[in-house]
Amino acid sequence: MLENKKPVRAVVFDLDGTLYLSGKPYPKAVETVNRVAKQVPVYYLSNNTSKSPVFYENRLLRMGLPLFDGAIISALSLALQAIQREQLKNLYFFANPEVFEWFAAQDSSLNLKSSVEDAELVLMAYHNSFDYEELCEVSWRIQRKTRWWVTHSDFVCPDARGPVPDVGSFMALFEKAYGLKPERSFGKPNPEMLAPVLERFAPDEVLFVGDRLYTDFELAKQSGCRFALPLCGETKEKDLWGLSILPEMIVNQVSDIDFDSLLENIQK
Ligand SMILES: [Mg+2]
Repeated sequence: MLENKKPVRAVVFDLDGTLYLSGKPYPKAVETVNRVAKQVPVYYLSNNTSKSPVFYENRLLRMGLPLFDGAIISALSLALQAIQREQLKNLYFFANPEVFEWFAAQDSSLNLKSSVEDAELVLMAYHNSFDYEELCEVSWRIQRKTRWWVTHSDFVCPDARGPVPDVGSFMALFEKAYGLKPERSFGKPNPEMLAPVLERFAPDEVLFVGDRLYTDFELAKQSGCRFALPLCGETKEKDLWGLSILPEMIVNQVSDIDFDSLLENIQK
């Protein structure tokens, strides 16, 4: 099957549940990614906005993963670009303090703690250290029909002790309370997330590797990229029963992907 396809010229890895769980790499994941990166550019794409891109840069480097400038694609950067395009200045940003500070440092013209009256937009990231008052601050703004965006809409985030509620679950809480939904979500499966990769490569030259069907596989389908599903994260074999389209590659771990065949004929 593989010989009829073009060689893969770029590989994009999801992080949580694909390369590691709770910050601990899966067996042979780091060496596999390093081997791939000797031949083609390797990107990392995660919906997790509980930490800033700088945090991820340090984490990946500490793990020994290869990294070039621009390799980490974050929904936070996409949200920031959209805010700048729309020339919005008065925001209420629901995010962990480290992410809040990173965002503020990217554009000092933004007011990220606008009052209920002044806020033009509520932006919600994966905040996992909030107190109830912050939840109320969001509520008071969105119930006035202030515009509301989320960085992504995953329901849960993987954790070694069991999945924990993520932005999609926060959205469900607000929908229950006020019957409102956000206007926009930036993360996977939104194909815009792959724009930096698809500016350089055709979709069928890009392999996306991710553990979640409704974000990772969906993104690959929507963008026309090739896809490999490792079963070490969220998706289990029984979740594939009854799917009308199956992932092209289904493996136990990232290290089981036959990269030698996929990358062959690549000029170094
Ligand atoms: Mg994942």
